[in-house]
Amino acid sequence: MASELCKAIKQCGGEVMFSNRAKKISPLADGGYQIETRRGAITAEVVISNLLPKSTRRLLPDDFSTPKWFNQIQSGVEKGWGAAMLYMVAETPKGFNGGAEHWQLIGDEHSPLIEGNHVFCSISSSKETDRAPVGSHTLTLSTHIPMATLRELSEAEKRAYIDDIHAKMRSTFSERCPEWSEQVYFGMSASPRTFERFTAREEGLVGGIPKRRGWHNYLRLGPRRLAKGLYMVGDSTFPGQSTLATATGGERTSEMIMRREFSRRVVQANHFLPMHVSLRQKDT
Ligand SMILES: Cc1cc2nc3c(=O)[nH]c(=O)nc-3n(C[C@H](O)[C@H](O)[C@H](O)COP(=O)(O)OP(=O)(O)OC[C@H]3O[C@@H](n4cnc5c(N)ncnc54)[C@H](O)[C@@H]3O)c2cc1C
Repeated sequence: MASELCKAIKQCGGEVMFSNRAKKISPLADGGYQIETRRGAITAEVVISNLLPKSTRRLLPDDFSTPKWFNQIQSGVEKGWGAAMLYMVAETPKGFNGGAEHWQLIGDEHSPLIEGNHVFCSISSSKETDRAPVGSHTLTLSTHIPMATLRELSEAEKRAYIDDIHAKMRSTFSERCPEWSEQVYFGMSASPRTFERFTAREEGLVGGIPKRRGWHNYLRLGPRRLAKGLYMVGDSTFPGQSTLATATGGERTSEMIMRREFSRRVVQANHFLPMHVSLRQKDT
């Protein structure tokens, strides 16, 4: 899916750069921004930052003033979640039908569905031979961690807390999915620290502001415009992550940018239509 998205961007004349960290975003006197990156400077009329609020703030000049909602979003994100993971490889169990499997495993149904008592488990299909050798499957197991709890602990306490969660994940997995757990021959673990290291997400926070039922969420519908030509998107901006939310958010972002930044210009439909059309075709 990510590859198809990159193809669609290129078809529209865009360029996709990997391994090119943005280091600084500076507003230009005549409008627009200069972005300093690892591989040189880029100027742009519109910048869309797909980072947590704190990380976006760090790229901007010290005297850049942020609106009140900016800090509210950041504090909402900080009350959110991290994740602990187990990555495993298992031999195909007897009776397996070859398809990918996705399980939600619950240890004790009366306890909170976090910290290893609830585990998402995705198992690769027999066709995914780029993930595991023939006759084997990858299993990715994740559970939610309340970051407010983790943040209060000392380094030693954090280690013990994460170890306990990994142990609880293994026991929930063995109890609820014995046909797979008995076949496991390789495993690695991960914690919020891992995600901070590999994805550069502050503290390894994931999932954005915890969502609760109710229409109030729609009052926060993104994207968020930080300044003229500067937008915030990603999981901290409602509707947040997931394939559907990202597609909806992307469409809203392009629509808002065309309306607010370029409305006075004659815009040729083919500047943005091909990507829109190809995504729709994929959907159907
Ligand atoms: C273990 C785990 C399990 C999860 N399970 C689920 C799930 O089942 N369902 C679900 O909906 N969500 C899940 N999530 C959460 C989901 O992965 C995140 O919420 C989602 O990836 C956030 O998307 P994003 O586009 O906002 O940010 P990101 O995915 O973090 O994308 C931001 C990108 O920007 C890059 N970047 C960072 N800094 C810079 C910079 N300075 N310059 C250039 N690039 C930069 C990063 O490398 C990254 O590629 C899970 C997360 C984890 C860790």
